[in-house]
Amino acid sequence: MTTSGNFDMRGVRTPSHTQGLGTTAMDCQKAIEKLHTYLDRQLTADEQAEVKAHLDGCEHCGPAFRFEAGVLHLVRSHCSKTVASVELHRRVRITLQQAPLPKTP
Ligand SMILES: [Zn+2]
Repeated sequence: MTTSGNFDMRGVRTPSHTQGLGTTAMDCQKAIEKLHTYLDRQLTADEQAEVKAHLDGCEHCGPAFRFEAGVLHLVRSHCSKTVASVELHRRVRITLQQAPLPKTP
C-alpha cells in the first residue's frame, strides 16, 4: 500500500478568475435590478456610476436602459411635471367625447 498519492483527488483548484462574464464588474441581473432604482435616481453616486459603467459596456443592458429611460422620460415629461388642472381634465374629456369614434366593423 502506498500513501504517496493521497492528494490526487484534491488537486482540483478552482481558477481564480471564475467571473468570466466579461469585463464588467456587475452582472446583468444585478444591473437590471438597480436599473429601476437608477432611473428613479435613488442610488448613491457610487452606485449610479457602477450601473452606468455596466450599461455602457453591456450589449444586453445598454439598449434596455435606453428604452426604459426613454419611456420614463416620456412619462415624466407628460405626467409628473405639473398635475394637470381639473379644468384641463374636463376639457380633455369633452374633447374626447366630441371626437368621432372609430368605426368598428
Ligand atoms: Zn448587462
